[in-house]
Amino acid sequence: MPKHTIVLIPGDGIGPEVTAATQKVLDAAGFSVEWVPLPAGARALEEGFDDVLPQRTIAAIKAHKVALKGPVTTPVGKGFTSVNVQLRKKLNLYAAVRPVRSLAGVKTRYENVEMVIIRENTEGLYSGIENEVVPGVVTSLKVATEVACTRIARYAFRFATKRHRKKITVFHKANIMKLTDGLFLSSARRIHEDEYPNIEYEEVIIDAGCMKIIQDPTRLDVLLMENLYGDLVSDLCAGLVGGLGVVPGSNIGEDAAVFEAVHGSAPDIAGKGIANPLALIMSAEMMLHHIGEHQIAERICKAYDAVLAEGKTLTKDLGGNASTDQFATAIIEKLA
Ligand code: NAD
Repeated sequence: MPKHTIVLIPGDGIGPEVTAATQKVLDAAGFSVEWVPLPAGARALEEGFDDVLPQRTIAAIKAHKVALKGPVTTPVGKGFTSVNVQLRKKLNLYAAVRPVRSLAGVKTRYENVEMVIIRENTEGLYSGIENEVVPGVVTSLKVATEVACTRIARYAFRFATKRHRKKITVFHKANIMKLTDGLFLSSARRIHEDEYPNIEYEEVIIDAGCMKIIQDPTRLDVLLMENLYGDLVSDLCAGLVGGLGVVPGSNIGEDAAVFEAVHGSAPDIAGKGIANPLALIMSAEMMLHHIGEHQIAERICKAYDAVLAEGKTLTKDLGGNASTDQFATAIIEKLA
């Protein structure tokens, strides 16, 4: 009998291609799992469900507690709430954790980047509370609650402590959004002072923060921020280390966790077999650590590091011409 049961959401666009490649790598690494494949996004509608996030998919993640998810497309202008926003809110996946690190063999303008973005995942401007006040005037409400701000701050400090990280930098815009970002800041400051004074702590206005990232990303360690900022800064930081093909992510709650790459469904390259599966493979590595399969996670990490360092089998985004499948096969060969 397989040791683990994990929900698998192949998703849309390049999703099915990168999830299949990831499954192959996990299988070759000896991961004992029963996958529970379920749809979300445009694919759910194609399969006859009446919502982009079917109740069955949510129920399965609640039951099995862990999911590996490909990127999904939420059809625009058809009245559907974003799958990702719904998923994170319904399962209370309040912390998005996105490690961004330089990889040997992946040439970029920067070296020795080693940071982690921790993004509040459940509120802010992504609360989806939008109103038409009168025709031609619309509003979008930014929500901050003390509970959620405190919870994400505590998560970040606990994370930094466990991983022996030295510094937390909060990106904010409390000079303009005095109440919402003000609450985010005061919550983080309180957790720092009361519970984790040993971790270095700084607050940086996000516009200056973006400049600092580009000037010298090695000065930054753990970045903590609210929902929208975390979304933007994740893609910005992906650009420092080789792009969206190499940045993994996890969405963590008290009762469930969903592991997915930072990138989207990449409709421009979908179906061509050229997407880089590494970001999802790295997300799966985070999942393996989460469920205690550290050895398998480390073996996979060593194998893809070796493929990258060798530089012979790289996908197009990393300057090579290997297909999704050839890249996965190269990792599998290193595992053997
Ligand atoms: P995207 O991340 O899909 O693509 C941005 C660029 O990066 C594209 O040029 C794409 O080809 C490239 N890229 C992304 N992943 C890659 C990979 N693995 N290998 C090689 N190149 C890769 O962002 P987008 O185009 O703005 O969004 C497309 C769709 O994805 C939208 O419908 C959006 O809502 C959705 N989306 C979903 C998620 C998610 O499910 N977690 C996240 C972001 C965007």
